[in-house]
Amino acid sequence: MRDPRYDILFEPVQIGPLTAKNRFYQVPHCNGGGYRDPSAAAAMRGSKAEGGWGVIFTEQCEIHHTSEITPFIELRLWEDKDIPMLRRMSETMKEHGALAGIQLAYSGVNGPNLYTREVPLAVSAQPIRTFTNDPLQARALDKSDIRDLRRWFVNAAKRSREAGFDLICLYGAHGFGIFQHFLSRVTNHRTDEYGGSLENRARFAQEVVADIRDAVGDAMGLTMRVSLDETIGDLGFSNAEVRDFVEMNRNLPDLWDLAHGTWEDCSGPSRFKEEAAQEALVRGIRDLTDRPIVGVGRFTSPDVMARMIKSGTLDLIGCARPSIADPFLPKKIEEGRIEDIRECIGCNICITGDMTMSISRCTQNPTFMEEWRKGWHPERMNAKGNSSNVLVVGAGPAGLEASLALANRGYDVALAEAGRVLGGRVARERTLPGLSAWGRVADYRDYQLRQKANVEIYFDSMLDANSILEFGFDHVCLATGATWRRDGVARQHVVPFPTNDALPIFTPDDLMAGRIPAGHVVIYDDDHYYMGGVLAELLVQSGCTATLVTPAAAVSEWTVNTLEQHEIHRRLAEMGVRIELNRGVTAIGADHVETNCVFTDRRQPMPCDAVLLVTSRQENNAVFGDLKSREDAWLDAGIRSVTLIGDANAPGPIAWATYAGHRYARELDGEDIGDALPFRREVTQLDAWKRSDPNA
Ligand code: ADP
Ligand code: SF4
Repeated sequence: MRDPRYDILFEPVQIGPLTAKNRFYQVPHCNGGGYRDPSAAAAMRGSKAEGGWGVIFTEQCEIHHTSEITPFIELRLWEDKDIPMLRRMSETMKEHGALAGIQLAYSGVNGPNLYTREVPLAVSAQPIRTFTNDPLQARALDKSDIRDLRRWFVNAAKRSREAGFDLICLYGAHGFGIFQHFLSRVTNHRTDEYGGSLENRARFAQEVVADIRDAVGDAMGLTMRVSLDETIGDLGFSNAEVRDFVEMNRNLPDLWDLAHGTWEDCSGPSRFKEEAAQEALVRGIRDLTDRPIVGVGRFTSPDVMARMIKSGTLDLIGCARPSIADPFLPKKIEEGRIEDIRECIGCNICITGDMTMSISRCTQNPTFMEEWRKGWHPERMNAKGNSSNVLVVGAGPAGLEASLALANRGYDVALAEAGRVLGGRVARERTLPGLSAWGRVADYRDYQLRQKANVEIYFDSMLDANSILEFGFDHVCLATGATWRRDGVARQHVVPFPTNDALPIFTPDDLMAGRIPAGHVVIYDDDHYYMGGVLAELLVQSGCTATLVTPAAAVSEWTVNTLEQHEIHRRLAEMGVRIELNRGVTAIGADHVETNCVFTDRRQPMPCDAVLLVTSRQENNAVFGDLKSREDAWLDAGIRSVTLIGDANAPGPIAWATYAGHRYARELDGEDIGDALPFRREVTQLDAWKRSDPNA
């Protein structure tokens, strides 16, 4: 049972008129589903309720049609029609005694209104500030607009109450919410009573809190989410000013929710930010108020959580990503099952679901956002099918997750691995600069698999088709991974390009195996995710100088979606890596690479001592091919199916591999659904409609 050191985490906390049952507080977080996938989002929140969280929040919910952040998909509370969808969410949140919270957002200068086509209203007239620098400006709110906006917040609060929520969070953090826009001199240039001094800049927050208290304050708790530090110099809402603001408005909300400056700061990946990275910014603020404080910091360790409370830094432990990676985190601490916590690795793949407007996924928790779509419970597997054993070949993320999920279903599993460690690509990549936390993908599954009586692990077992046919398992799951290509094929080159053997050519696999070049290295990055940038760091650490050449317009371009692109560029630039954007590599010579401008094709030689090709990966699917070509031998061998999964099937990020492994295990022995859709989907119900004829 529970370790008494963690008892403090299970104490109740008063939030206005309500009481949270414990200190575990799931702060608002996006999920890429929002208003498009309300039942999927509701079921996801429900899994956290079951997992023991004391407070569970929605993502940001847009309160009025004059401010929305299309193309991003969050929630909307624009009219009564939106209430049933939100009620479904609050009901799932409250199923196990958690308080259900809704985050109300008016995006002001962050809302381009691409969908509603309304003129954006902001604290001051400014260009819209979004990730995509949308080419339009916002008009400044005048006094009557401010009165309207106060009323819209009250309307949203009343609708939130009707939708069954207990808590309202007024969003003013990450540079996104109107409360921050009023508070910060970056976005507030007003000369009236809402601008200038901090007292004036705080006026709007005070007014809205008073309005909402009048409307719903006896029944609902009111929280305010503010940035801890805008990190943009004196002009921004600095940490010192945040402290002044809290001190001056001591008991304004029922709880202070403190989140670091920009979203990139707040949700920093493990590559750049440690657990509890915001501690110094939060420490001491609790003394400035009588209200409880919640803060975040990618908390996965119960010891760190307990320290945050005992040291008087926080009253509640705020978690977004740790609650995604393991919705049952509180329950596992309560039951003394610390080793069972599936720790967030800080890769920020979950954020890419929002950034790409798709639906979020999690590297560690493949069931995230599949709770309703596929009926996947984060802790419980479906019942075992009618066969009994499975041979899983390859112990990378795909093979490990398949083995664990299969074992949890009750199958006997043999996991064969060519090497001597578990983890596959993760075992190699965890040794790269900044990626050590990614090793948790392997560590968690390693420990879990070793607890299972129905799993045998075989190392030094490079299997071929013959040996697999000899074993005679019911099912064979091939998770044999992929190898980085040495021929330059990716996006710029769809067929191999001319190379000269005189120049040493390296791939990421070489570097991860310890074969490091010397001298000046050209990194040709036509992959665009993290690998090119990480290896640039490794090369510099190893004593090389490096030039990173990429046909993309930004270094590690796709990491815009993981909120780390800026930090990667900054780090490489500071390390002295030369960066050549919008430039490809057309040929490899004896002592140089030939580069080209992607716009003009103008060529330029670039002298170097070696070249590192970070291009694409080749599937290790030869064993699968051999087995397929001998399908007539399967019956005699007792084999019912052979399936290729993970990178061996189609290389992708680690999250794609754990998902593939989990899916394989879930669907084994399942019924043949033919051409049916393999997940549930919510389709908009059509409103009544009559063809209108403008000339009639
Ligand atoms: P994924 O990301 O799909 O899990 P990885 O590349 O991380 O793929 O892992 C693949 C694993 O499979 C590696 O650990 C590799 O050693 C192992 N492997 C590859 N081919 C074989 C084989 N024929 N027999 C046993 N293990 C193999
Ligand atoms: Fe953590 Fe990565 Fe999962 Fe996000 S996707 S919750 S960062 S493990």
